[in-house]
Amino acid sequence: MNTNTREGCISEVTIREIEAKSILRKHRKIDSWFISHYGMNLYRGCLHNCVYCDGRSETYHVDGEFGENVAVKINAIEVLRHELNPKGKRAPLKRSFIMMGGGVGDSYQPVEKKYELTRKTLRLLYEHKFPVHILTKSTLVERDLDILRKINEQNRAIVSFSFSSVDDGISSIFEPGVPSPSERLRTLAFFKKEGIACGMFLLPVIPFLTDTSELMEETVKQARNVGVDFTIFGGMTLKEGRQSDYFFDVLKKRYPELLAEYRNIYGGNGWGQATGEYYNSINSKFNAIAEKYEMPKRIPPALYTDILWENDLVIVILEHIDYLLKLEGKPSPFGYAAYSISKLKEPLSTMKRELRKLRGVGKTTENIIIEILETGRSSYYEKLLLG
Ligand code: SF4
Repeated sequence: MNTNTREGCISEVTIREIEAKSILRKHRKIDSWFISHYGMNLYRGCLHNCVYCDGRSETYHVDGEFGENVAVKINAIEVLRHELNPKGKRAPLKRSFIMMGGGVGDSYQPVEKKYELTRKTLRLLYEHKFPVHILTKSTLVERDLDILRKINEQNRAIVSFSFSSVDDGISSIFEPGVPSPSERLRTLAFFKKEGIACGMFLLPVIPFLTDTSELMEETVKQARNVGVDFTIFGGMTLKEGRQSDYFFDVLKKRYPELLAEYRNIYGGNGWGQATGEYYNSINSKFNAIAEKYEMPKRIPPALYTDILWENDLVIVILEHIDYLLKLEGKPSPFGYAAYSISKLKEPLSTMKRELRKLRGVGKTTENIIIEILETGRSSYYEKLLLG
């Protein structure tokens, strides 16, 4: 099979069909970025071949040449049908969005046209009445409007797109296998017109290229113009090994003048993090821009309050508060409180008088938890979310 990239080169790709033992990947604690307990990878490897993709890192054990080889979980629907079947399970699956995307392969990469595993999965999730959150870089998601509309009417669907910026030229170098940012924005506008909630993951911004105030502002502005419901922001990690080697090869060819600056911020820690100073600087730029455009920096509660179990709702809101305070450079005990609550089996509403016994829960946190339990909202959080 051949694949065309936006830069015009053609590379050989290999598709391998494999049998999966399991499909749903369960998070121990609800993931407050995506409002999800479960994720999945129907494909391993990604023909979109983004230069910065961390799925390329050895950490994720994707076999073969990332960007050219894809393993297709050919029995995915059968396995998933079994996993979603409530019969024979000790505990039912937890209520939350099922996350499709991220990980080690885009659910709408080119092989999806042939195998339709994502489409079949959506049908199954509809049958089982699960809300769905899709994160992709491919406009192929428009094909599934019919089923996403049904899921949205029954529960809720969110369609999110990831961007490193809205600059089509930079994207063609670092995201060679996907539709341009302009096309992705058009697809977001298309889903918004259909009444489906949409998000932008401005993730990752590429250091010294798409992390400038001007370009970040233009990106958030265009997100606002198409009506996205939130923008989630993050910087780039570069893990040593395949991910970092591949990225630096491209950088050397296209932007050799930036190499020294990259070496300064990526110091070679195991998780590929840049320096704290660098992340602080881009976070505060993003924070100011998001506030200027009144852009929610996390998924707004109106999209999930009615979906989650009470403890999960509290965890998500506390983690969002934690993130928003840290974005402003302020200390926060809320993340620790959320972690303590994630260990509980009993509903928080049955232990309202004992909340202070939980690690990390002081007077302020206790008040916030009680307000959430009684009203489903936190006024403190809502103020923080928009700045
Ligand atoms: S679309 Fe996502 S999974 Fe695919 S290469 Fe790009 S970043 Fe990686």
